[in-house]
Amino acid sequence: MGQPLSVLIVGGGIGGLSAALALSHVGCRVSVFERAEDFRPIGAGLQLSANALSVLEKIGLTMRGQNGIDIASTDVCDGHSGKLISRIATPKDNKTLVISRPDLQTTLLRAVAADENIELNTGAEVVDILGGKSVTSLTLADGTMRTGDVLIGADGVWSQTRRFINSARPDYSGRIAWRATMPLSQVPADISRHTVTLWLAKGAHLVTYPIANGTAFNAVGIVQDDWQAEGWAQTGDMTELALAFSDWYSPVQRLLQSTHTWQKWALCTIDPTVSWTKGRMALLGDAAHAMVPFMAQGAGMSIEDAWVIARHLATANRDTVPQALAAYQDERQDRVTKVWETSMQQGKIYHLSGPMRLSRNLVMQAAGNLMKNRYNWIYDWRAV
Ligand SMILES: Cc1cc2nc3c(=O)[nH]c(=O)nc-3n(C[C@H](O)[C@H](O)[C@H](O)COP(=O)(O)OP(=O)(O)OC[C@H]3O[C@@H](n4cnc5c(N)ncnc54)[C@H](O)[C@@H]3O)c2cc1C
Repeated sequence: MGQPLSVLIVGGGIGGLSAALALSHVGCRVSVFERAEDFRPIGAGLQLSANALSVLEKIGLTMRGQNGIDIASTDVCDGHSGKLISRIATPKDNKTLVISRPDLQTTLLRAVAADENIELNTGAEVVDILGGKSVTSLTLADGTMRTGDVLIGADGVWSQTRRFINSARPDYSGRIAWRATMPLSQVPADISRHTVTLWLAKGAHLVTYPIANGTAFNAVGIVQDDWQAEGWAQTGDMTELALAFSDWYSPVQRLLQSTHTWQKWALCTIDPTVSWTKGRMALLGDAAHAMVPFMAQGAGMSIEDAWVIARHLATANRDTVPQALAAYQDERQDRVTKVWETSMQQGKIYHLSGPMRLSRNLVMQAAGNLMKNRYNWIYDWRAV
């Protein structure tokens, strides 16, 4: 056995932390560099489907004990009238959990802290990268330099690592997401507290579901807009929110007014078809392929990436790192691109108006449970 590979990871988000755990699992030594001083929880929810959960289970993490809630079905409702259009049962073999981001983040961070193969550096902003032939290195904002056999950019949609690998730039999708969580007690009685509900309206949609073991409720509203800014934590203006949802079902409007902690996020995408690797450097998660969240698969894809890159590096040595990274891209790119395109397409269907909207609703009503198996090609994937 040679020396274990040393891996530098830029970014300690869901993708970076999952990659650190998966790489440690296959015997690598990992250093993660996260620019934030501390991991402040972002109060929002996430849907995690069976494909992503299979990776977390392989690295020893089960979300069911971490306040995750199993979702039996998704209700599709009309955002204007509140009427149920369709109820789509979650396929039996493909459980989906809803979980709060802080719960997922805490689970990942605990596992990282307990793992002696992983060094986690916070307040560590990476400002420069060098992808050499036999070694790769990074420089932090304080001038510290670190070297490793492999460098992974898991630094999100606004990645700085990406410019050393390809020329893709964030592309604004023309939509913004409004996100908030509220105590379950504030949810109006006419809104289901136990399922995922997808509310569809002209040019907008809203997803609501319980999180934190059923003590809190998550709402994400997507509207068309030309506002663009970088980052998660832009505080949203309540008047603007009220205007965007002014012709909506009144219990939904009451729900939206029940908290003042709305944040808004400009939805940007990254072209997933360009190269994700260069020599000893690779991208994963949003840095490689940020997608619109309409299939709820962005975090799931970054978790899958983490498993696959670790599997390829497990059998690599220092000399064969570039080939292992190329094999990671080969295995992942077609699947991720298909999920990326499906997410984009889904956004168009959700926001239809006029006769097209009526036709869509009729199809959804008629198809009912048939729809539940439509995306099995996404959920059937398993970590092997
Ligand atoms: C409204 C909305 C709803 C969503 N819902 C879902 C869902 O239900 N299910 C799902 O699977 N996905 C969902 N997603 C997508 C998911 O949130 C992202 O795909 C996922 O968080 C990407 O993780 P990441 O680790 O790749 O990037 P990020 O989470 O962006 O993490 C990147 C990290 O890198 C750090 N960083 C950046 N630059 C540097 C630097 N120079 N040096 C050091 N550190 C750096 C950042 O501080 C950050 O911590 C949703 C997204 C949105 C916007």
